[in-house]
Amino acid sequence: MRLAILLALMLSFSAQAQVERRDYKIIASGLSVAFPSGYACEPIASPFASPTRHDGSMRRDDRNKGLHGGIDLSLEIGTPLLAIADGEVIALGKGGALEGIYRWLRHTPEDTGTRYFIFSKYQHLSTLPTLKVGERVKAVKVIGLSGATGTAGKHYGPTGYPHLHLSTFYGPSDEYEIKGMFGSMVHGKDARLDDSLILYLDGLDDLSAIRSLTDERKTIRPAVVGDDGRIHPEGRKTVWPVSCKESTKR
Ligand SMILES: [Zn+2]
Repeated sequence: MRLAILLALMLSFSAQAQVERRDYKIIASGLSVAFPSGYACEPIASPFASPTRHDGSMRRDDRNKGLHGGIDLSLEIGTPLLAIADGEVIALGKGGALEGIYRWLRHTPEDTGTRYFIFSKYQHLSTLPTLKVGERVKAVKVIGLSGATGTAGKHYGPTGYPHLHLSTFYGPSDEYEIKGMFGSMVHGKDARLDDSLILYLDGLDDLSAIRSLTDERKTIRPAVVGDDGRIHPEGRKTVWPVSCKESTKR
């Protein structure tokens, strides 16, 4: 009898977990990144929609059809993670496996210079929040330190894989709901998961046009933060999520 109750509980728990997990339609954007000359920046170890992890192994195919739902940057634990644009903290906490300690920011069209409300999620941080939900942050503000939380076990072994996983959702509205058993799933109203590189495109006004851009425009040139803590080139609203080393004196 007890076993039957336990079994029923386990079944309902797993059904609930499945309802909360959402599979996204993921299509490679064709975008690639080029950093400003004179700056050494952490490149993307596994791009959006990649079927492989940073080490070249195949991703599990039970989630998003095995395609990567964000971009990964391999980082030493404790690397400062920067707000990619002005925004508001809308959720933070500790999620489950493959998620770890997370932060969500919401950026208005004015914050990013795009037409979209952008919801950005940073994962696998090493530190719990010092930020508060509802707090406005400026671009470049350190919103946490990178880590390996949520990655240990299974493929990545006991020590896990220290990296930042960044996902971005693009939508027409500032409205959102928070779901999931850890409160870690932000569903922006009618928002679509897409490549984080899109937010660095100059003059982005139509997501559906991304995949038919000319080759020249498919090379994304994000602004970066240098040793001086400032944005280069100046005046850009969006920045790379980790600062870059200045490799030559200008
Ligand atoms: Zn990832």
